[in-house]
Amino acid sequence: MLKPDDFTVLYREFQSAPATFDCGKKCAPFNDGEPFCCDTGWVVPIAFKDEWKYLEKKTNLWHEFRPRNSDEFDLIDEIDEDESVFIECKGVKYCERENRSISCRTFPFEPYLDTRGNLLGLVYNRVIEDKCYLVDRPQIVTKEFVRQYMRFIEKFFKMLPSEKELYMEQSRIYRNLMSRRKKPLVVLTEKGPFEGAYREGKLLRPWTKPDPSESSYRPKV
Ligand code: SF4
Ligand code: SF4
Repeated sequence: MLKPDDFTVLYREFQSAPATFDCGKKCAPFNDGEPFCCDTGWVVPIAFKDEWKYLEKKTNLWHEFRPRNSDEFDLIDEIDEDESVFIECKGVKYCERENRSISCRTFPFEPYLDTRGNLLGLVYNRVIEDKCYLVDRPQIVTKEFVRQYMRFIEKFFKMLPSEKELYMEQSRIYRNLMSRRKKPLVVLTEKGPFEGAYREGKLLRPWTKPDPSESSYRPKV
């Protein structure tokens, strides 16, 4: 059972950035100086209800997200208000690293599980895959980030088992997506990136293709 105070430890143990450089500096020039994932026009952070209770007490950085158009009202309708809330920060100029939400810390990655529920690594959240510099650049991601994320999510699944069910389903959707696209299913692990199987999801072999060059980064806006 999750409690607001649990976020003191969860945040403390999960502080690593995904890359050794500030990836926001790569994407922000294509979005009026604001990283895409910090701009609610592109991605709206979601917090667990208990996380929101924790953050509300601790900082003035965040407020509840106020929808501005019909798409955003539809977005709000999609979530279970008893469990989660959409939030918005004051903006990247005011970012407080220690008070970033779990959704900030994890973006653009999510846990990957096989069909038996074994946690094998991380895969990309593809919601802004054509804008985020980190997506499909597995060699950039640090082992320390993967290690901290894995420890965090193992602990979190024990606190909130429903999240594990959700990500088992997400992993199945991801397998189907990559199979349809005929693209490798890349899973980031503490031993480096691996290629996963489309069917049962187990890891097949190390993934070694080099990351795409700088010149191939052309976010669509
Ligand atoms: S995670 Fe992606 S979208 Fe967010 S700042 Fe880094 S490159 Fe930009
Ligand atoms: S808290 Fe920081 S990392 Fe999170 S959305 Fe705001 S500016 Fe971005």
